Amino acid sequence: VLVYENVRKMYGDFLALNDVSLQVNKGEVMCLIGPSGSGKSTLLRCTNALETLNGGRVLLDGIPLPTREADVRKVRQRMGMVFQSFELFPHKTALDNVAMGPITVLGMSEADARARAMVLLEKVGLSAKAQNFPANLSGGQQQRVAIARALAMEPEVMLFDEPTSALDPETVGEVLNVMKKLAQEGMTMIVVTHEMSFAQRVANWVVVFENGAIMEEGPPSQIFDNPTVARTRDFLGHLG
Ligand code: ATP
Ligand code: MG
Repeated sequence: VLVYENVRKMYGDFLALNDVSLQVNKGEVMCLIGPSGSGKSTLLRCTNALETLNGGRVLLDGIPLPTREADVRKVRQRMGMVFQSFELFPHKTALDNVAMGPITVLGMSEADARARAMVLLEKVGLSAKAQNFPANLSGGQQQRVAIARALAMEPEVMLFDEPTSALDPETVGEVLNVMKKLAQEGMTMIVVTHEMSFAQRVANWVVVFENGAIMEEGPPSQIFDNPTVARTRDFLGHLG
């Protein structure tokens, strides 16, 4: 569903992505790992056309990502993005946070959008918190609302950028469980994460970045149990 061909991204004269080629098939989960500054977030930003490339291309279902603003918006609608910071609307309830996109962007009626939002909140285990404002939710609950909000737009691909990095340790698991369930339901996902046990259990393919390039890639069994690149071993060893 997503193909990266020799993707190159510069910030000024800094080479943030150097000749990255990858493929994510429908229903697959790809985890991106690697040290800080290695280009993981940049790859996600190139995936939903938040960045223009300096070389190579990204294809969604065989079609290169567009550059015209109107087309970019359409493509972005096909991808759900979940960030480290949840970025919920603070003055809206959990339910309205989830219902808003379908109402304003998809033109769904308020009643339909709220009914669907409720189903999605149930899916992430938060139907009891539908009327809470973000300030009255834990970090893990806010992040699950953010996931439900992304799902409300019926994306074909979900992009996660360190979705649990800002969470208290005790709420990390509830978010990872929701993500694992999504993966089991067949959602196509790209996940930047430091949660190695999640990558090990849920990913179909793990990509280790360093200095804007792919240092090593393979199934989790290879990356975690039998890395062929010494630097991968160093990186994973360093994480403990
Ligand atoms: P982290 O794990 O810390 O989130 P990352 O792997 O996601 O790191 P990126 O955010 O993709 O790393 O950044 C890759 C490199 O590009 C970094 O060296 C960063 O400083 C640089 N960079 C990112 N965005 C910009 C920007 N807008 N302008 C200039 N340099 C940037
Ligand atoms: Mg990042």
